[in-house]
Amino acid sequence: MTSLARRLVVYFVLLAVVPLVVGFLGLTAVIKRSEQRRIDEGLQASLRSATATYDGELLDAQRSAERLAKTAVFQRALLRRDRATLAGFIADSPHLRLNSGRLQIGKVPAYATERRVEIVGTEGPLGELIAAIPLSSSYLDHLAIVAGIPSNEKLVLAHGDRVLRSATLSSGRAELSESGAGIGSVRLNGKDYRIAVSHPVTTRGSIEVAIATPESRALHAAFLTEERLLLPLLALIVLMGTIAFLEGRGIVRNVGALATAARAIARGHLDERVPVHGRDEFASLAVIFNEMAEQLEERMKDLELERGRLREATLRFGEGLGASHDAVQLLRVVVESAVEATRAAGGIVIGPQGERFVAGDPEKGKEKSEWSLRAGHEQLGTLILTGDEFGDEELEMVALLCGHAAVALDNARLHRIVEKQALADGLTGLANRRRTDSALDEEIVRASRLGSELTLVLLDIDHFKEVNDRHGHAAGDAVLKELALVLVHSLREIDTAGRWGGEEFALILPGTDTGGGAQLSERIRQTLERRRIPIEGGDPVSITASFGVASFLYAGSREKLLAAADEALYRAKRAGRNRVESADGEPVDSGVAE
Ligand code: GH3
Ligand code: MG
Ligand code: MG
Repeated sequence: MTSLARRLVVYFVLLAVVPLVVGFLGLTAVIKRSEQRRIDEGLQASLRSATATYDGELLDAQRSAERLAKTAVFQRALLRRDRATLAGFIADSPHLRLNSGRLQIGKVPAYATERRVEIVGTEGPLGELIAAIPLSSSYLDHLAIVAGIPSNEKLVLAHGDRVLRSATLSSGRAELSESGAGIGSVRLNGKDYRIAVSHPVTTRGSIEVAIATPESRALHAAFLTEERLLLPLLALIVLMGTIAFLEGRGIVRNVGALATAARAIARGHLDERVPVHGRDEFASLAVIFNEMAEQLEERMKDLELERGRLREATLRFGEGLGASHDAVQLLRVVVESAVEATRAAGGIVIGPQGERFVAGDPEKGKEKSEWSLRAGHEQLGTLILTGDEFGDEELEMVALLCGHAAVALDNARLHRIVEKQALADGLTGLANRRRTDSALDEEIVRASRLGSELTLVLLDIDHFKEVNDRHGHAAGDAVLKELALVLVHSLREIDTAGRWGGEEFALILPGTDTGGGAQLSERIRQTLERRRIPIEGGDPVSITASFGVASFLYAGSREKLLAAADEALYRAKRAGRNRVESADGEPVDSGVAE
């Protein structure tokens, strides 16, 4: 049995059984007391009737005594002391006794009430007549019949605390009330009696007339009532018990069903529902419970979806960040992921160079949230989100996202620097040999594919060793840097100037033929020739350079192109330096004299 069921049983016993039993006991006690009172009243009525009858008979006896006392024949017989005649008179009246000097006629009863009547003759008192009603067993029977005492009541005599012989009761000790008169209970020969006692009635000794009836009469009456009430009471208790049991079982089942469902939900079975019966409070509780479970299930589904969406966004964001060192692409990923993760209406990200990338519709939404993408002191961009409302969770999400994005953007920035460093010549900042090689390869591929012009120029500073020797290595470096500047300023966007090695440089000129390459080389040569290059701790120095120009269309392959350019350069050197030679063998007219 569950503790709830146990408690319901206790409530039922306390609320139904206990009051019923108490009420039943109280009622039977009241009935018993009223039955007692009724019996007592009956006893007292019988007692009054018995004593009235007794008094009446006593009065009759007194009157017949008075009549006899006045009778002349009787008085004469008394004067004559005629015992026989007198005895005749007395015998006629059984309750009379004559008392005249030594003459005494008639029996003296053991217990009797007496009335004395004086016999007064013409010459004075002659004696007395005593009218007595004896309290014998036979008289009590007679008195009971005459007084109409019911058969379940008995006339008895009492003397003090003693009940004397009666027609049916043997004598025994009784505990009567103090005065003798009144009503009380006695115990005679082991049996309880209810008894009503009169005031003393006898002349000699104090004898009381009493009416006794078995005490069990009251008990019996109460028992009858109990019996009459007990069955309906038991039936009522059984009925109430059945109703309480059914109701209680319903309550316990309902509560049990709720508890089972709640337990199932707590274990994650969110589709669990409680059956709804009827329209009572349990039914509404079940309905509310089911609604709650439904909402919980919906919420969980939403959460699951949200989680999936977030996971997706995070994954894409992570992939986006990891896959690229391209700042443009990163900025695009950042704004798209931020809009998706926060469900913002739109967003803009502004790069460090002012480049803008948009996702969604940034014009929509009341609220604006601005975030700086910053790593250390490096300002890498600004993210602006617009939406209806951003909760703490969303803001937290964007903060996290911006943190990661800033790291990725900074990495990209550093990557660009490293990349640049890896492909640039440390001294001049031009493309290094590796970069120059690959640029040449790329351009050869493009020229082969498109059939377009491509010219390669190799140039070498003349007598550079002398510069070093004369002015020092640092001056040599300064000259190399100056030459690089001249090259950069002379070339187009699509051209590449690279350090081929030492003081030798390569110019890759897509879309340019040998003639164009030679002209460009000539311009550079002249510029160099005129330039005074300042050096530390000395006068400015002047340099010249020799150029070899070759076209890919003529050469036909990478190796031949290089060989042709090299050969042209060699020719320029041999021909006296500070000049431009083309691979076709025709020197460009520089117009400069040796
Ligand atoms: P030529 O006219 O025949 O080319 O004579 P040259 O002296 O220029 O030729 P050579 O190849 O004999 O000398 C090249 C010199 O360039 C040797 C080397 O010390 C110097 N050099 C190469 N790279 C650097 C550099 O990075 N800095 C400096 N200061 N000197 C360099
Ligand atoms: Mg040289
Ligand atoms: Mg050289």
